[in-house]
Amino acid sequence: MGVWLEGKPPADRVREFVKNEAQRLRAVTGAIPGLTAVLVGDNKSSLSYVRTKEKACQALGLNGNIIHMPVETTMDTLRDQIRALNDDDSVDGILVQLPLPKQLETNEVIGWIRPDKDVDGIHPESLGLLVQNQPGLRPCTPMGVLELIKESGVPIEGRDVVIIGRSLIVGKPLAALVTNANGTVTICHSKTRDLAGTAARADILIAAMGKAAFVTREFVKPGAVVIDVGTSAVSDPATIRTLFGDDPLRAKDLADKGYTLVGDVDPRVIDTAGWLTPVPKGVGPLTIAMLMKNTLEAFKLRRGLP
Ligand code: NAP
Repeated sequence: MGVWLEGKPPADRVREFVKNEAQRLRAVTGAIPGLTAVLVGDNKSSLSYVRTKEKACQALGLNGNIIHMPVETTMDTLRDQIRALNDDDSVDGILVQLPLPKQLETNEVIGWIRPDKDVDGIHPESLGLLVQNQPGLRPCTPMGVLELIKESGVPIEGRDVVIIGRSLIVGKPLAALVTNANGTVTICHSKTRDLAGTAARADILIAAMGKAAFVTREFVKPGAVVIDVGTSAVSDPATIRTLFGDDPLRAKDLADKGYTLVGDVDPRVIDTAGWLTPVPKGVGPLTIAMLMKNTLEAFKLRRGLP
């Protein structure tokens, strides 16, 4: 039976650091680090994510703002908005909440953000610096994953690390971070042959695919560190009972919200893994904490502060 690798303890440590550092920077510069999230449209999950980020800023003594634009926003209007934020000295971090409505070209939009304000770390320049292993802003979820691996006590150096998922925001930057940390990386995706066999060779397995409970025992080497990035809303009571038994918290979720959040990893993998992150309360809290940390980094980067 493995150990649940909870996100709260490392996330609390990062948040404490950010809170103290924000106070110190305020005393030194008289300025408060600030994050602005741009939300286009009314996607409910996106609205809830940007509000969580805004609240996290406020709790740690940072300025947090949301710019909410209508769903029919054009590329020209969005570009003007991002340029205004690029030029606004009180804004240190700019985050464009994804996904964007269909008429907007995500990669082009991300390219408009000043790289030294790119707190999501997905501007081509940020990704280039990551691949070069040069200082720069790193994507938040992959940084959170590294923090959770560190929490297990298993070193990355020399270990076989398998990542399932190759998105620009999670899988690909994570592969670069793990490579920079001297791990031996395999990236899997929907065209991978023998996914379970490949995953089962991993000392450290990271699932970032968005397929509820897809990763079962046969994907996991006994004693491995398993990090579950995926989050899917599951509303089928029979599936929930199969995965979580009579867990009263899951029953309450279903009654209150009509769904419960399930990771990519079947929670019964805890019997095989050495460590497994729960969903929710695993990777999620670290993603937010790393965003706060990146806002501080951006503040310092632009002012040339150590
Ligand atoms: P994404 O852009 O949809 O990418 C999913 C990846 O998984 C793709 O590379 C896809 O392969 C691969 N995949 C899908 N089905 C597969 C299968 N059956 N076998 C092998 N590979 C498969 O997703 P994302 O943005 O990276 O997010 C992944 C999950 O993480 C989502 O559930 C998301 O909600 C969650 N997430 C959580 C946090 C957090 O803070 N907790 C942050 C970010 C994302 P192809 O490339 O071949 O299509």
